Amino acid sequence: MKRSEGQDWSKEHGAIAADAILPLALIRDRATTDLILSGLDASGVAFALFSPDDELSYGSTAFKALFDVQPGAPGFEEIIRNCHTKGIGPKMAVPVEEFLKAARSKRRSKPQRSFEIDTSDERWFLVNETLLPGGWLWHVFTDITMLKSNEQVLLRARDAARLAADTDPLTGLVNRRAAMERLAAEMQAAFRNCGQLSLALIDLDHFKAINDRYGHAKGDDVLRHFAAAGRQQLRGGDIFARIGGEEFLVLMPGADLREATEAIDRLRHHIARDENRADLGCVYTLSAGVADYCGNAADDLFERADRALYRAKHLGRDRTERAG
Ligand code: GH3
Ligand code: MG
Ligand code: MG
Repeated sequence: MKRSEGQDWSKEHGAIAADAILPLALIRDRATTDLILSGLDASGVAFALFSPDDELSYGSTAFKALFDVQPGAPGFEEIIRNCHTKGIGPKMAVPVEEFLKAARSKRRSKPQRSFEIDTSDERWFLVNETLLPGGWLWHVFTDITMLKSNEQVLLRARDAARLAADTDPLTGLVNRRAAMERLAAEMQAAFRNCGQLSLALIDLDHFKAINDRYGHAKGDDVLRHFAAAGRQQLRGGDIFARIGGEEFLVLMPGADLREATEAIDRLRHHIARDENRADLGCVYTLSAGVADYCGNAADDLFERADRALYRAKHLGRDRTERAG
């Protein structure tokens, strides 16, 4: 019988004592050992025993199929290179030599370790590696594909729930709660990095009159129209949120007061042009207050922008006011 079929590994290598692994009392005779091995094999579990010099001494049928193990006693690295050449077995996120270098540094590094691998046939395995006396290495592969796919479903559901919790359903913009979190985070970042940060608070003018005149559904159309206009006109790195009925917030990391005011005025002029409201069928304007972060941890940026917005309303609406 060939060594790779596993009958004589302990005799050939002579480096491992059976009673170091299993109490001898549990093994009644050689026939029992063979039955255990063939039972394990028949149960479809992938497992492998590697010698101290990393040759495969025993591989179960499932292991050999998973790694396309060729006859003989191939070494671990030979098995992995063959897998790589044929595009089977474990997926490798890095070139094969890097993969092997990382594996070399980890194999036999601990008495026991476990890790996950995914394979080219879209399965996942939890690999349990046990270091046996004399440098022998015992690997058991547990198929965790079902667990992984449940995990993926849960992760996707969690991400969708998070997104929904942060999103205003009418406009698809960031909602008030998430916007306030982002504001606090961006203020902290600006404080730490001595960075520029500007905030604009926007309130659509006479919105109640729009609802009264055209109906609530048209009011909703206006809110969606403004959200689309802002998405189109503002920079990708800006945070654009709906924080109230017809109230919006624009957080502009990296922008000073002048740049932020110009950005909001561009948006204000954009919605003023008839051609940009062709499908909407009604006119609307905005008032805005803009403030820039003063570099102080206790800066009440929101309050200052809100006061500037109040002034814009007071001075006649359809205008942008800067915080003093
Ligand atoms: P001002 O220029 O002073 O801001 O006047 P305004 O009419 O916009 O302000 P006011 O706060 O009096 O009214 C806001 C209106 O916005 C009242 C409310 O019915 C309307 N509104 C709030 N949320 C929504 C919404 O989701 N959809 C619609 N269509 N209207 C909304
Ligand atoms: Mg308002
Ligand atoms: Mg308003």
